[in-house]
Amino acid sequence: MMVVGLTGGIGSGKTSVLQLFINKGIPVYIADLEAKKLMQTNPKLIREIQSVFGTKAYIKNKLNRSYLSKQVFGNSKKLNQLNTIVHPAVHLDFLAFKKRQKAPYLIYENAILFENGSDSLCNYIITVTAPEATRIKRVVQRDHVSPKQVKDRIQHQWDDKLKVEKSDFVIENIDWETTEKLVDNLHQKLLKISFEL
Ligand code: ATP
Repeated sequence: MMVVGLTGGIGSGKTSVLQLFINKGIPVYIADLEAKKLMQTNPKLIREIQSVFGTKAYIKNKLNRSYLSKQVFGNSKKLNQLNTIVHPAVHLDFLAFKKRQKAPYLIYENAILFENGSDSLCNYIITVTAPEATRIKRVVQRDHVSPKQVKDRIQHQWDDKLKVEKSDFVIENIDWETTEKLVDNLHQKLLKISFEL
C-alpha cells in the first residue's frame, strides 16, 4: 500500500485539500484526530500520560484537555514529552489502519509530518502552501483569533521552504479552482505510480 503524506503549515489549506482526495475515494488517516481518539481509548497510552502528567490528566476516564493544554502550553520540554508518548501509539495505530486498506494509495495527514519524523512512514509527500499573509488571514477568519496568535503558531512549525525542499509534490493553494485542478492531476499521477509499483 502506497502511503502519501500530506502536510502544510497552519492555514495553508491541508484539510480543504484533503477533502478533495476523500471525494475521490482515497482513504485518509488524520494523525491529529486519531491521536486525540487514542488518548481517550488506548489503556497503555492513558497510563503513560498519567505517569508523566499525573492523575489529573483524566477526570472520570475522560481526558482533561484544558489541564493538559495548560501543562504543555509554552513548555516545550513537556510538549516534547507528550509527543514522545503519543507518537508511537499513533504510529502503531496507523500501521493497523494501513493493513485494512484496499485503495491504490492512502493519505497520511499530519501538520508536523517532518517535525515529528512521520515522513519516514511515507512513500511520497505532498506539501500544501500559501503565502503567509493569506494563511494568517484565513486562520483569523476561521478561528476568530488575532494575527499575532497565528504568527506565534507559525513560528513553532518548520518553514515552508524547508518542507517544500523535502517534498515530492507541492500544491500551491491560493485560487481554489486551480487547487482542484492540481489535485485532479496529482491524483492521476499517484494512481499511475501506484499501479507501476
Ligand atoms: P490548520 O493547520 O489550522 O488545521 P489547514 O491547513 O487544515 O489549517 P484549512 O482549514 O483547510 O487549513 O483552511 C483554512 C481556512 O481557509 C478554512 O476556513 C478554509 O475554508 C479556507 N481556505 C482553504 N483554502 C482556500 C482557498 N484556496 N481559498 C479561500 N479559502 C480557502
